[in-house]
Amino acid sequence: MAAGIPAPGNAAPTAGDSTRFLISDLCSELETYLEPAEVEEVYRAYLLGAESHEGQTRKTGEPYIYHPLAVARTMAEMRMDHQAISAAILHDVMEDTATSKDRIHAEFGEEVAELVDGVSKLTHLHFQSKAEAQAENFRKMMLAITRDIRVILIKLADRLHNMRTLGVMRPDKRRRIAKETLEIYAPIAQRLGMNAMRRELEELGFSAKHPWRAAVLERAVHRSGGNRREPMKNIEQAICSRMEASGIVGRISGREKSLYSIYRKMRDKHHSFEEVFDVFAIRIVVDDVDTCYRSLGVVHNLYKPVPGRFKDYIAIPKSNGYQSLHTILFGPQGIPIEVQIRSTEMDRVAESGIAAHWQYKAGSESSRTAQSRAREWLKDVLEIQNSVGNSIEFLENVKVDLFPDEVYTFTPGGDILVLPRDATPIDFAYAVHSDVGNRCVAAKIDRQLAPLSVRLQSGQTVEIVTAEGARPNPAWLSFVVTGKARTGIRHCLKSMQTDEARALGQRLLDKALGGLGTSLKHVSPGRLDALLDAMQLPDLDKLLEDIGLGNRMASLVGRQLVGMEGTEAGDDTEEGAPPGQSLAIKGTEGLVLSYARCCHPIPGDPIIGQLSAGRGLVVHREKCRNVQHEGRDRADRTIALEWSHDPEMQFTAAIRTRTANRRGALADMAAVIADHGSNIEHICFNEQDGHSTAMTFLLTVRDRQHLAQIMRGLRRLKDVLRIARQRG
Ligand code: MN
Repeated sequence: MAAGIPAPGNAAPTAGDSTRFLISDLCSELETYLEPAEVEEVYRAYLLGAESHEGQTRKTGEPYIYHPLAVARTMAEMRMDHQAISAAILHDVMEDTATSKDRIHAEFGEEVAELVDGVSKLTHLHFQSKAEAQAENFRKMMLAITRDIRVILIKLADRLHNMRTLGVMRPDKRRRIAKETLEIYAPIAQRLGMNAMRRELEELGFSAKHPWRAAVLERAVHRSGGNRREPMKNIEQAICSRMEASGIVGRISGREKSLYSIYRKMRDKHHSFEEVFDVFAIRIVVDDVDTCYRSLGVVHNLYKPVPGRFKDYIAIPKSNGYQSLHTILFGPQGIPIEVQIRSTEMDRVAESGIAAHWQYKAGSESSRTAQSRAREWLKDVLEIQNSVGNSIEFLENVKVDLFPDEVYTFTPGGDILVLPRDATPIDFAYAVHSDVGNRCVAAKIDRQLAPLSVRLQSGQTVEIVTAEGARPNPAWLSFVVTGKARTGIRHCLKSMQTDEARALGQRLLDKALGGLGTSLKHVSPGRLDALLDAMQLPDLDKLLEDIGLGNRMASLVGRQLVGMEGTEAGDDTEEGAPPGQSLAIKGTEGLVLSYARCCHPIPGDPIIGQLSAGRGLVVHREKCRNVQHEGRDRADRTIALEWSHDPEMQFTAAIRTRTANRRGALADMAAVIADHGSNIEHICFNEQDGHSTAMTFLLTVRDRQHLAQIMRGLRRLKDVLRIARQRG
């Protein structure tokens, strides 16, 4: 493997090159745990990476390829599989070079291609919100977008190297990247239990974001450090000999507190530097759980424990799977000593978290897929969690694609909205504000117009286009998933219906009173109030609404208002008023007016209206059988209607056809229909025999004339044997 490795591996090193990590170093590291064929493949990935980044340099002046190599090194230190290492080497090629996903797929297979693609997707996400609460959502978004947890590990390794080489950046850029590291990446590492990674990200982030504070703290730590060395050593010694005396074998080490953890304690708990720093921290690592508890007994015997400060994270682990015993002791001269006690296995998990569960094992293990490894880790942690019953918190914290129940979307301003899975732009709009939902007319997803019913994906930026006077569409109810959208739409429709019912009720009552030779203006207020009282209605609006909804008959109310109470239905059928007094239908009456599906009336047809309780007015064709049969007994519920001069919408007409069974016949018909500016809403196949087929078409038309033109066009087709409008 080592033979024939080209530059930069064998290039003559220039000054300062000695610390550079080379492909030959990577290969020898990989050879300790991967098969030769797998190392070979990583090497091929290196060749493609070097070729793709040829001529590019980093801000440090180095050839670009050193960056992906450094990322691969971190992955190798985590003992990741060869696909993840290859992807780490190629992680920037899709973003920064002409090398495509297809090429990676062709040369290294789907798994590597998907990993590189996943990292590129995360690269496109930009955290820009100022609000701190949004950071949590952004972290969840990153995890939700990622189908394979190895993508996150590569991204963390990528960020780690960028932080290590941050010094060359402009100060403002440095601070921005440092902030993002502290707010997004370090917490993700922590969530995945990767404490070593988290610590380094935090230290680098802290000194880049607050260089001055970090320097002051470092000087303080340095000053105090000298005085501590002696007592610290004595304490370690004392514990060590006590443990030996009890026959316990273990590692004891003093822990250096990180600058960032000191800073955070001072900031969050308002402690002075001395309060935070004048604490000795000791870690004891032993073989097994049992020995952990025995060691605890030993140290509690040696120094008195501080009451109430003992924590058993072995029995009740932290939500990322961390396990240890924590206790605080009164040391010599009253100096507090923080002690962590854990097993070797717990220590490994505490340092590398999910990566510890991932580490490559040769042989049969290699057949396990990425998903099954991630799932195994989750299962391990969940099992620990289940025993103490806080698995819900854990699931809340670790959202990988294994639990894809939420989508994380951006507002145009960079805020993140969390929506349930399958949420649509309408749900998004109502989540922003009910006014935005009610006035929504279109949506842009990542700047492209998109249907309002499309299912949103994590990471998308959604912009809602609103229009003054726009209203929710009842059809939205069939695809929204959030309660907020559903309630918002229903509420708005209901108030629209109320308004429309009132307007229709007003027109119906005007007409009824007109037929009696009077009008609402001429009805005395006293009589109106008396009638409202008798009906137990609060006001005229409510009465008009009732009429519009078909709950009361305008004719009857009219007669009561002019003092003809006695003349109830059956007196005559005066609703068949002269044509001049018919109600004009514009087609824009909205929710209180609908068109009967039995006869599909269109402008030009003689029409008649039927009031049906709660639904308002249903328009039928005059000849419709449904009206003919029922109409007689329900004269009071039947209203003469006519079309207004200029109906403002498309109507639906039904035609029945019989056509020859010839391939292409339907296509010809569809073409004729389209040529006439009509759409097919629905086709129903009624029956078929050896040579012909009967169908019913629902077509959009403007009026009778339009329909007649379409039917004439269809009749000309030789395959169309018969055609007629459907009767009610
Ligand atoms: Mn990178």
